[in-house]
Amino acid sequence: MQNFAVKNICKKFPFVKAGEIGKSLCKRSIWALSVGNRKNMTLYAGTFHGMEWINTLILLSFFEELCIHYKNRSALLGCDVFSILSNQGLMVIPCVNPDGVEIQINGASSCPQFERLIDKVGDNTKHWQSNARGVDLNHNFNAGWKQLRYLEISQGIKGPAPTRYGGKYPFSEPETIALKNLCIKNKFSHAIAFHSQGREVYSAYRNTPQKSIDLGNKFARLAEYKVSEPEEIATGGGFKDWVIGYLKTPAITVETGLGKNPLPIGDFQPEYNRIKKALVECIII
Ligand SMILES: [Zn+2]
Repeated sequence: MQNFAVKNICKKFPFVKAGEIGKSLCKRSIWALSVGNRKNMTLYAGTFHGMEWINTLILLSFFEELCIHYKNRSALLGCDVFSILSNQGLMVIPCVNPDGVEIQINGASSCPQFERLIDKVGDNTKHWQSNARGVDLNHNFNAGWKQLRYLEISQGIKGPAPTRYGGKYPFSEPETIALKNLCIKNKFSHAIAFHSQGREVYSAYRNTPQKSIDLGNKFARLAEYKVSEPEEIATGGGFKDWVIGYLKTPAITVETGLGKNPLPIGDFQPEYNRIKKALVECIII
């Protein structure tokens, strides 16, 4: 589905740049698409977790809609897309964890190389969040990783698991390495990580830069989401934490939708409409 959508967007909009930033453990493409000024870009990345594929739909739909307005030089919800993007480009990674999504939707057999491990650690792959070898990608970034690992162990997560196992060491997984290399190379002005669910925004991590707090407040105001402080186990190890802590770049996490993961596909369109204005306006900080 994703490969087809990416190719379709590229065909329709020759000004779009698309490429793989890397491959998952099972050699699925991790795509990145960009539009506008590539010297100064914002990053939106989604679907770090298997059950949260609604964010892939949201990011691809948003990117495509943005391209239509960029091409036609028309306004989107009152925003001048062409002038925004000419100044500040946008890169979108619709799916950081393609294997995890396949496992959640189609079961362990979609990752044959890891089928035995997946069957062993996950009795119900319908709740699978990790990558193919049971590492939670959003616990694998090098930001407070060790403390998070102790917390995981204290909660009984000692090895590969459907959720919340941080891996043997930070950046042990090809998916997190791909994102790390991309960010170091591109020096994004700010980043938003899209998860589900809760209609919440998280902007805090240790010495949170004021710009992260401002960005979080802006997104929350425009989408009518709430600003929250993470629970202990959700602190550290995450992409947003690493962007703030290591790259010293403003970043937030957005939890789209409300209900129980995986959110039903029927939630996609109304939720996308609800946050669209925030998506456009948060390209600029
Ligand atoms: Zn998540």
